[in-house]
Amino acid sequence: MIVPEQCPGCGAWDVALCGPCLRHLQGQVRRVEEAAARLDDVRHGALPAWAVASYTGPVRAAVVAWKDRGRADLGPILGAEVRRAAAALVPTLKEVTGGAELLVVPVPSTAAARRRRGADLVGDLASAAADGLRAGGQRARVDHALAHRRHGVRDQVGLGARARGRNTAATFGLRVAPAAPGGRWCLLVDDVITTGSTVSACAGVLSAAGALVAGALLLAATPTPGRSGHEVILSTGA
Ligand SMILES: [Zn+2]
Repeated sequence: MIVPEQCPGCGAWDVALCGPCLRHLQGQVRRVEEAAARLDDVRHGALPAWAVASYTGPVRAAVVAWKDRGRADLGPILGAEVRRAAAALVPTLKEVTGGAELLVVPVPSTAAARRRRGADLVGDLASAAADGLRAGGQRARVDHALAHRRHGVRDQVGLGARARGRNTAATFGLRVAPAAPGGRWCLLVDDVITTGSTVSACAGVLSAAGALVAGALLLAATPTPGRSGHEVILSTGA
């Protein structure tokens, strides 16, 4: 059966994501770490975080459709905006890295989420980000340095913010890789940031391994911190 294509943002037919809805993803990339309370937990001061768009309206609808409603066709469209944002960040990142190669590290999804979606969506965003960085003149490559730990992850429901942070920190570990990130510059990539606890936990793991974390690039950031509604989605990597 062929399902007619429909814009997830407004319901327009025969278009994957219509022009007016797409424009919500085409603003200037912006700093968001002030809105993500948990990013101040990173041991070497606040971690810079940049988002392509606000996780609201058509953007939120598109991300949900892409992640959870089988709209894999939105991946290249969202990826193109991440690529553009990454290219725009090159001058800023070069000031930090001094032009050294940047490892683009996707926040890992759970194996269950990858199986359910049939794809590694955040990995695809990381590839798009690395493309954009290289297009802007910054040496970069994707490094799947992080992995979900199989055990020890508790349900987030009912945990306070600090306990959730500790719980999330226990979620991620370093993948045993041929090239350890020690001494290397890293840029984390994820789809949505809410409190920043996931990004903070990942940055902590990389820092503990001796990596230098330049920041995080997100597809979208929730505009209102502290609400509990999206925390579970973000922290379980589901
Ligand atoms: Zn639309």
